[in-house]
Amino acid sequence: MNRLILIKYGELTTKKQNRNLFVNTLYQNIKQILKNYNCIITKNRVRMFITCDEKDIDKIKDKLTNIFGIHSIVICYRVNNNINEISSTALEVAKTFNFKTFKVETNRSNKNFEMNSMEVSSYLGGYLLKNIENIKVDVHNPEYTLKIEIRNDYTYIYASEIKGIGGYPVGVQGKGLLMLSGGIDSPVALYLALKRGINVECIYFESPPHTSLQARLKVEKLVNILTEYTPNIKLHIINFTEIQEAIYKNCNPTYMITIMRRMMYRISEKIAKKNKCHCIINGESIGQVASQTLTSMEVINSVTNFPVIRPVCCLDKLEIIALAKKIKTYETSILPYEDCCTIFLPKHPVINPKLDNCLKEEAKFDYEKLIEECVNQKNTIVISSKETI
Ligand code: ATP
Ligand code: MG
Repeated sequence: MNRLILIKYGELTTKKQNRNLFVNTLYQNIKQILKNYNCIITKNRVRMFITCDEKDIDKIKDKLTNIFGIHSIVICYRVNNNINEISSTALEVAKTFNFKTFKVETNRSNKNFEMNSMEVSSYLGGYLLKNIENIKVDVHNPEYTLKIEIRNDYTYIYASEIKGIGGYPVGVQGKGLLMLSGGIDSPVALYLALKRGINVECIYFESPPHTSLQARLKVEKLVNILTEYTPNIKLHIINFTEIQEAIYKNCNPTYMITIMRRMMYRISEKIAKKNKCHCIINGESIGQVASQTLTSMEVINSVTNFPVIRPVCCLDKLEIIALAKKIKTYETSILPYEDCCTIFLPKHPVINPKLDNCLKEEAKFDYEKLIEECVNQKNTIVISSKETI
């Protein structure tokens, strides 16, 4: 029997005018993820088919469960449009499952086929009843549903259907720049942004020697974990030391964090523009820390007109942690390396900062030159998924 993988698209089927973009992007993403496998991928408006070596089917299926834009993955058998072939394969497939009640569901887009859908279902139902002992039909609540799709080229008989991860294919929404710290929140924000179809590049601020190499390696590891969902992620590393030291020397301690975050946003905007990103994304969550009150966000955000997307802004910490565990970033995120946000931390950061005060603090030092230096001296690396065939 000829087994193959059939892919049903996710939400994209509702976006009629964008369908081609969605299907083509998903096709390219799948091709990229499976580039080391010997397989043929074909697509049409509603389905994608992957034929591959029998031995690779399970590994490929596992990889597909992490690709955004896939509604479900179906392992199916393909036979000619001939009722005898269909019945004998249906019987073999059904025998691989253990069930007491079943139904047959037929979908016939090939209107030239000799029987209609109802006739095929009842014929196959009878055939299974005759050949498998102790089973009966239950059309309302069956333990097992055998699905048959009769198409113009072939008939597809479903063995099992696995739920896909949903969302939009990565890239259909263009690019965004994600501020990635080594914490719990921003890797989750990265995952959620990818899920909405944003092709994410990351920016990480480090302040050596105040922050360590381990802290950077931890961020690289987090990116690496997320390459499960998209094979290559760009990481821009910014040396933030001089700006942080200048803030430490010149700024009223209560405003240090606010000013530091305004600097991060300014640099992020410049890097985003240079790299054709359409938004900044970060892991801020309303009220989590002093710099994430609504008033703090307002004065920090006011340095840029760029859209700033905060995928976890309305989740509470427990919900974010649950997601971090699900995507397997949690254990790495809680490793205790310092972040540039946690060094030089003032005792009493302002909770409701005023824009006027920010401007006064920033006027005490010429930050512009240092911002330009940060942007020009960024170090960019691409982190790719490790191939496991
Ligand atoms: P996280 O758990 O993501 O580190 P957090 O709760 O520690 O978040 P903050 O440290 O205030 O919160 O940071 C808020 C957001 O700012 C982070 O989610 C991230 O998007 C961004 N950010 C913080 N530190 C850095 C950094 N060193 N480099 C890049 N982005 C950062
Ligand atoms: Mg943090």
